Amino acid sequence: MKILKERILKDGKCFPGGILKVDNFINHQMDPILMKSIGVEFVRRFASTSINKVITVEASGIAPAIMVGYLLELPVVFAKKKKPSTMENMLATTVFSFTKNRSYEVCVSKDFLCPGDKVLFVDDFLANGNAAKGIIDLVKQADAELAGMGFIIEKAFQHGGDELRKQGIHVESLAIIESLDNCEIKIK
Ligand code: 5GP
Repeated sequence: MKILKERILKDGKCFPGGILKVDNFINHQMDPILMKSIGVEFVRRFASTSINKVITVEASGIAPAIMVGYLLELPVVFAKKKKPSTMENMLATTVFSFTKNRSYEVCVSKDFLCPGDKVLFVDDFLANGNAAKGIIDLVKQADAELAGMGFIIEKAFQHGGDELRKQGIHVESLAIIESLDNCEIKIK
């Protein structure tokens, strides 16, 4: 996606350990015009896929997911990173975060991820694929079906995407970063 790649090159910043900061337009300040184009592109790429729900993980996945849900007129569910004390009837799994270097639980209510649901997972980044694996587990636990996975940015050098594609999952990434070596952003 050309405008996204140009924006990453213009405003993205590299940090040691293979971290790309896009705080200026995705992760802190958000550009809703770009986010709308991101939603349109996901809709185009998953046009032939049967979906009845969009799922993401709070917080950074919510903006692209709501754009997709809005365009497709489908509900959007975000997995929560903290179990609310009032939440019963829930599914939970553990995800390792490499940016935070710790594991956390993500959970979703069985009321909103149901048997037979055909869900599209949308998130900001795909790195090692741990968040994606957590969602795959939640979808399995719910007896739902994973229709596909869409990421704004995939860091190809961390290989989560290879693993997901090997499993036969339809993965779409709008910008693929080949390397962040020497703090230089190389986009495929
Ligand atoms: P994974 O679970 O695929 O290893 O990592 C994906 C999650 O970690 C994303 O949801 C994102 O929040 C965070 N993440 C991974 N790599 C980066 C990065 O380079 N920059 C930012 N801002 N977040 C990242």
